[in-house]
Amino acid sequence: MVNEESFKKLVSHAKEYGYVFPSSEIYDGLSAVYDYGQYGVELKNNIKKYWWDSMVLVHENIVGLDSAIFMHPEVWKASGHVTQFNDPLIDNKDSKKRYRADSLIEDYLQKIVGKIDKEITKAAKRFGDDFDEETFRKTNPRVQANLKKREEINSRFIKALEDEDLPGIRQLIIDCDIADPVSGSRNWTEVRKFNLMFETKLGSVSEEANTIYLRPETAQGIFVNYLNVQKSGRMRIPFGIAQVGKAFRNEIVARQFLFRMREFEQMEMQFFVKPGDEIKWFEYWKEERMKWHLAMGINPDFYRFHEHDKLAHYANAAFDIEFKFPIGFKEIEGIHSRTDFDLSQHQKFSGKKLQYFDPLSKESYTPYVVETSIGLDRTFLAVLSNAYTEEKVPDANGNLEERIVLRIPAPLAPIKAAILPLVRKDGLDEKARRIIDNIKFDFNCQYDEKDSIGRRYRRQDAIGTPFCITVDHQTMEDDTVTIRYRDSMKQNRVPTANLNNIIIKETNIRSLLEKGVEGV
Ligand code: ATP
Repeated sequence: MVNEESFKKLVSHAKEYGYVFPSSEIYDGLSAVYDYGQYGVELKNNIKKYWWDSMVLVHENIVGLDSAIFMHPEVWKASGHVTQFNDPLIDNKDSKKRYRADSLIEDYLQKIVGKIDKEITKAAKRFGDDFDEETFRKTNPRVQANLKKREEINSRFIKALEDEDLPGIRQLIIDCDIADPVSGSRNWTEVRKFNLMFETKLGSVSEEANTIYLRPETAQGIFVNYLNVQKSGRMRIPFGIAQVGKAFRNEIVARQFLFRMREFEQMEMQFFVKPGDEIKWFEYWKEERMKWHLAMGINPDFYRFHEHDKLAHYANAAFDIEFKFPIGFKEIEGIHSRTDFDLSQHQKFSGKKLQYFDPLSKESYTPYVVETSIGLDRTFLAVLSNAYTEEKVPDANGNLEERIVLRIPAPLAPIKAAILPLVRKDGLDEKARRIIDNIKFDFNCQYDEKDSIGRRYRRQDAIGTPFCITVDHQTMEDDTVTIRYRDSMKQNRVPTANLNNIIIKETNIRSLLEKGVEGV
């Protein structure tokens, strides 16, 4: 379900507290392009490090790569992007709004599923412990009718997509009586294809032959370097290549904050395997990737797998991991078994052999690929939306007051500790500075001496700082400080000398990695 109100609050909190700004805001912004502010960039870097380490540090057989954004234009012919990387778009003649035709139908299908779920929740409440969902699904006439309707529409939809039947997609929108979500109008244009790649020119001569593209995914940089890495790193199959980098898509509908941007970052890992082993590795990566998400401590009910109804022509298995964003359950990561499609295409188009010689079996083959592809910005949005909490807590006088706290997992939090002298005199401020000088090489710290201590705590809550360390008069006597925990607001008095250990234990990315490997 879409929670517009909480989404709006999140967007404005992100701006007010230095996480995310609209791009070129003083010129009224640029549609679907965002800048990360002083805290946003730290959170983003921490997520990136968590992902990178989970691939490259933890796995002996995965190495990194940083390929260029610009690539030879033939790459995108070989990959199919020049001809295939299209979305079907449709305009509403009355509202003049443009939509992805497939998204309109997907949302409609989702609404039917929502109706079915509602019936089930209602019945589960009515019948209590005696409720048997499976029997209810099979026997309740309303559920049955909706399941049948969904099935019929979905199979028409998949067929139309497979056949690239644009009039068929339009007919489905008409037959389902789908209205423009903004104006309610059903006055639709034809459906047209729209290529999502951004073009630009290389060099100073503006000719067709100089047209190059801003990469729409990072994966192709990995494929074209497969042999370079395999040979120079003496890699043995199975092995993986991981990359984090910018990708660019001229998205048709881009009104969903960080969820759908025109410039965004991907974290992709392509795992090269022996043909025939791909499903085994696909299952492995599917589970591993879900563990990675869950290790962040986010409610497991916010994640689910979604199997692709329609496989891309080169894939033989594909699942998405979906996250419950404030705009509903949506894809955050794709895990795809891509067969030997990419390497074979590049062999064909470049005329260069991209094979692997197996030293044990003495045979050569084109490796198969299992890909994990996750959006960095969508992960950022997931962490931020899960972290944002409004709650009532007692103030210094015991009265309830509202606090906004970002419960970001401590290892990902932008600032790990704020050091706060209780007052700006009696040497407390200098002592606080000395503490910072000691720990600033290990953690991102912040010094704050303005306003009451309560207000300073609230400021740190709003940016998600897990620890507030207060220097008071007792500190000057026995070299202890109070440490306040963001989530519980509990306070402990600890020796200053222990601060490093306490903070390391709670904020080390290692703690996430260990959970992710062991499973949660
Ligand atoms: P969608 O169906 O939502 O457009 P996709 O299936 O096209 O996504 P992929 O090509 O599989 O996405 O890209 C891998 C990941 O990159 C996605 O799971 C998502 O997290 C991220 N991603 C893709 N497009 C965008 C975008 N426009 N803005 C932000 N992140 C994106």
